[in-house]
Amino acid sequence: MIKENIEKILKELPPGVELVAAAKGRSVGQIEEAIEAGITLIGENYIKEAEAKFILLGSKLKWHLIGHLQKNKVKTAVKIFDMIETLDSIELGEALDLECKKINKIMPVLIEVNSASEPQKYGVLPENVEGFVREILRFDNLKLMGLMTMGPKVSAEGKVRPFFKKTKEVFDKIKNAYEDRLSWDYLSMGMSDTYKAAIAEGANIVRVGTAIFGRG
Ligand SMILES: *Cc1c(COP(=O)(O)O)cnc(C)c1O
Repeated sequence: MIKENIEKILKELPPGVELVAAAKGRSVGQIEEAIEAGITLIGENYIKEAEAKFILLGSKLKWHLIGHLQKNKVKTAVKIFDMIETLDSIELGEALDLECKKINKIMPVLIEVNSASEPQKYGVLPENVEGFVREILRFDNLKLMGLMTMGPKVSAEGKVRPFFKKTKEVFDKIKNAYEDRLSWDYLSMGMSDTYKAAIAEGANIVRVGTAIFGRG
């Protein structure tokens, strides 16, 4: 099933849109199946889980962190990941920069946007993203490349679209303001139920779990 699911999704994706297989809770065997079907990018939420899988699959994939990163896990995270999609505080940026300096790595990062301004959610509020960018620019070992958003958990695909649209507006604003200073290339939005809407609103990274690996 995994193979068929991936082939179907890859066939539908417009050129230039990258598929991240969201693999939290999935086994190494399942991920190997996904690799055989053409997956090259994996998204993990938890450092411990990612570390265990990285030992077995490391070089076969590019690794994206798509879950919240705690500061005490930064040291391990910078060794594993090729991109941190969930930069959500200056303090975290500072910690990432410091650990990257120690291992001589430039880390691509996306800023997580709390696009529906939900109080319980991680992420930078849309109206604060521009100021946030300015502060992150001083960290030499972070390569700021774009935005990521989850959007609110809603039942209908159409209900999430305004929040994708809003994130794209913020994305474009930063792009225009920092064209000469940043490789502002990535907008990561959309999951199994919403990736088509996200692409229509300008996403070029989609993070898909259930539609690849099935439920549970
Ligand atoms: C789990 C997860 C996904 C994928 O969700 P599905 O609905 O299973 O496709 C995408 N993004 C993040 C941040 C996730 O934690």
